[in-house]
Amino acid sequence: MNSELPAILGGSPVRPSGPPTWPPTDPALTSILRETLRDGSWGRYHGEQCQRLQSLLAASHQVEHVVLTCSGTAAVELALRGLGVAAGDEVILSAYDFKGNFQDVLALGAIPVLVDIRPDDWSLDVSQVAAALGPKVKAIIASHLHGAIVEMPTLRAIADGAGVPILEDACQAPLARVHGRTAGTWGDVGVLSFGGSKLVTAGRGGAVFTRRADVAQRIRLHVLRGNDVYPMSELQGAALIPQWEFLPEWNQRRLVAVEWLRPEFAKATAPLRAEARHAIEVTKELNPFPLASGDSRSVFYKWGMRYESQDADGLTRNQFAIAVRAEGIALDPGLRALHKIHSARRFRAVGNLSEATRADTGILTLHHPVLLGDESDLAQIPVAIKKILMHAEVIRDRFLKEGRSVEAGDEGVV
Ligand SMILES: *Cc1c(COP(=O)(O)O)cnc(C)c1O
Repeated sequence: MNSELPAILGGSPVRPSGPPTWPPTDPALTSILRETLRDGSWGRYHGEQCQRLQSLLAASHQVEHVVLTCSGTAAVELALRGLGVAAGDEVILSAYDFKGNFQDVLALGAIPVLVDIRPDDWSLDVSQVAAALGPKVKAIIASHLHGAIVEMPTLRAIADGAGVPILEDACQAPLARVHGRTAGTWGDVGVLSFGGSKLVTAGRGGAVFTRRADVAQRIRLHVLRGNDVYPMSELQGAALIPQWEFLPEWNQRRLVAVEWLRPEFAKATAPLRAEARHAIEVTKELNPFPLASGDSRSVFYKWGMRYESQDADGLTRNQFAIAVRAEGIALDPGLRALHKIHSARRFRAVGNLSEATRADTGILTLHHPVLLGDESDLAQIPVAIKKILMHAEVIRDRFLKEGRSVEAGDEGVV
């Protein structure tokens, strides 16, 4: 087989074994899960494991109140309830955000108010938040996505000026440094996810944390209905403890990997970019923070990059992702823009959301497990990208011939 030929055209993949799996195995995990077997905590409602996790999270974020939950989505819902959001209220969020956040707002009978993103790093454009404010707005959701960091000091000032609280979503950025603070602590309330793909995982799980006693009290009132209705189990708590302890070191390793990859990507795509046909770019704002200085430090869950096909003959973003996937590299389309997948009856929009529209079809994300690999794992990624770009037209023709549509928007609007 020709190793130069893309796997999608019948060649051999760059990484025949496929992307590295997640979660990782570690002796510390085996040992703590054994401990839950030995002491029976795996089958109890309450025990020490969740308490230990709670204390770890409280210490990491310097907060008094931590509520462990069954998912990040439940954590977001509880956070909104904690802030007092109710039916008929409005909640500001980015038009390019995790879909569950939009759905959580709807679940409370509240109305999402969508704000556009920055063109350079697809995070909430805080300069447009003031225009979204109004008497019904009861909260602002800010999510750190794809390794980018929301401009929290500015957002905090705007929110304080308007008397509106912030929900800071750190599900993709646990323990990121955000302008001198830990991600989640600029918000009145912060949330984490421990879902199966996340950087710290128990398959399912989440957490909501706050310094505000009133917010914590409202959450507890909602959660404790004779029982905990959004619980995390002892087994989940146990699995999360060692991972939380490893997290700073793992985050650092991923950051080093990203720093290593950035110039490699630039090299792999440079000749093609010069032709202005297919540009895959790692925006400079993606990882603007030097490793050991500055007051922010990114965390990489799904590392984002822009892919723009400027030529009708070019491969679309989705086609490109499928072809790179076939090489055994977990490069996938980014999130769907929220206004593209929901009926306009369901939200209020500020401005034309043009950058979120561009992001809807123009962002790729690299899934994190490979970032903990060694240099040879990392080196395969630019090789795969270059291979696909070199054969872009042939691959495009193949898709055309098959008549297979893989474009965003085919799923329809709800
Ligand atoms: C994963 C995620 C969540 C919630 O996730 P669950 O899968 O429900 O745990 C919320 N916000 C963002 C930005 C996420 O990436």
